[in-house]
Amino acid sequence: MATIVTRFPPSPTGYLHVGGARTALFNWLYARHTQGRFVLRIEDTDRVRSTKESVDAIFEALEWLGIDWDDGPYFQSERLELYGEYIDKLAQAGKAYYCTCSPEKIDAMRKAAMAAGGKPKYDGTCREKGLPKTEGAVVRFKAPLVGSTIIKDVIKGPIEFQNSELDDFVIARSDGTPTYNFVVVVDDITMGINTIIRGDDHAMNTPKQIHLYHALGSELPVYGHVPMVLGADRTRLSKRHGAMSVTAYREMGYLPEAVLNYLVRLGWSYGDQEFFHTAELIEKFSLENIGKSAGIFDQEKLQALNADHIQAMAPQKLYPHLQPFLARAGYDPGPGDYIEKIIATLNQRSKTLQEMADAAGFYFADDIEYEEKAARKFLKPAALEPVRLLAEKLTALKVFAEKPLEDVFRAVMEETGLKLGKIAQPVRVALTGRTASPGIFEIIEIIGREKVLKRLAKAVAYMEE
Ligand code: GLU
Repeated sequence: MATIVTRFPPSPTGYLHVGGARTALFNWLYARHTQGRFVLRIEDTDRVRSTKESVDAIFEALEWLGIDWDDGPYFQSERLELYGEYIDKLAQAGKAYYCTCSPEKIDAMRKAAMAAGGKPKYDGTCREKGLPKTEGAVVRFKAPLVGSTIIKDVIKGPIEFQNSELDDFVIARSDGTPTYNFVVVVDDITMGINTIIRGDDHAMNTPKQIHLYHALGSELPVYGHVPMVLGADRTRLSKRHGAMSVTAYREMGYLPEAVLNYLVRLGWSYGDQEFFHTAELIEKFSLENIGKSAGIFDQEKLQALNADHIQAMAPQKLYPHLQPFLARAGYDPGPGDYIEKIIATLNQRSKTLQEMADAAGFYFADDIEYEEKAARKFLKPAALEPVRLLAEKLTALKVFAEKPLEDVFRAVMEETGLKLGKIAQPVRVALTGRTASPGIFEIIEIIGREKVLKRLAKAVAYMEE
C-alpha cells in the first residue's frame, strides 16, 4: 500500500477551535497509525482575515496537544506563482477559459436563473469564445454540464451530486488571484496528499475539487467528511456552548492528553472505551470507526475525562503541567520530591490543574486562614484539649511518618476518650483552614514538624480566645 499522506490546512483567521483540532487529530492519528506523513498547510490567501497572531496561536495549540507534522508548514500566500502556472496550464489545455462578463451582467444572469427556478449560475456566455488573456478577465473552469459526480466518502458512503447543479466557477479572479477550491486542489496534488479527512461543511466543495483533479489528470484522494461537532442543544458548536479555543482549556487546567482524548472520542469510537492514552489512540485509530452522526460537545464529560487523566499521570510527569498554576498563585515548591508528594495527595480529587493548585495552597501558606464556617464548627473550646495534647505529643515525636503519627492520634483518643473524627477535624481545620483535605496523616507528614506545630499553636490560641 502506498504511504498515507494526510494534511491539516487551517485558515488562520482566529484561534484553533475544538472542531478544527478534532479534524487535525483525525488526520494526524491516521498518518501516525499507518506510519504515513502528516502535512501542515496554512490557508492564508484571504489576506484581510488572515493574521500572524492566528498562525502563531494555531502552532501553539497544535504543539500543546502534541500534534507534530512531517512536512510544512506551507503558506499558500507564498505559493501564488505555482497557482499561476496551474491556471495557465488549464487555460492552455482548453479546460479553463477567460471570461470578460461584467459583474452587472453576471448578477443579471444569476437573477434570471433564479427566476426560472434554478440555482444562481453563470450561463456560459464566454465558454466557447476562446477569448485571450486580457487585463481584468477572470478565469473560469470548464465544468462538465451533464452527468453526476460521486464522492466515494469513507465515512458517509457514496454521495452523488448532479453536475448540472454546478456552473463554470471562477478559478482566478480579475486581479489574477486564485480562488479557494483551486488552490486547495493544486496544493493537495503537489503535496502528494492522498487522504483528506475534513468537516462535512466542506462536502459541497468536493465535487468542484473532484472535477479539478480530473482536469489536471491527477488521481483522486480518499475523502472522508466528518459530521460537525454540535452543542448540547444540537446546534452547531459556538461560544455559547463554552470555550471553543483549544488553548483556553490549557488555561483552565486541562491536560493536553485529556483534551486530545476527548476530541477524538467526539466522533470516533473503539467499543465503549472512553479513556485512551495518545499512544493507544495511535495504535487503535481507524477511519472505519469514525461515526456518521454528529458528536455532542459536553464540557462535563471533558472535565470527567480530565480528572481521569490527572489520576492516571505519574506526579513527576504531571508537575510541569501544574507548575504554571502554582506559580500564578505564588507557590514555589523548591527542589526535591516535595511537590510529587503533594501531587500524590491531590491527584485523586482534582478535576483540573487549577483546582489542584487551589487545593495545594495550604501546603505552601505561611499562615493559614480559616474558612469561617470550618472554624465555627470545629475550632471550638471542646477541641482545645485534644489539639493541645496532640501538639504536645507531636513535639516529642521523632519521626513524622504515617505509622508513628497514627500511634500519636491513638494515644490522644485514649487519653481524651474521643473518637478520631473529633480530633482529626479540628486538626484538619488548623492545618488547612478547610474541612476537606487529603488524609490527615499524609498532610502532617508532608507539611512537616515545624509548620504543623506552628499551625496547631495558632489554632490553640484561636480557641482560647
Ligand atoms: N482551510 C479550510 C478550513 O480551515 C480547510 C479546507 C480543507 O480541509 O479542504 O476550514
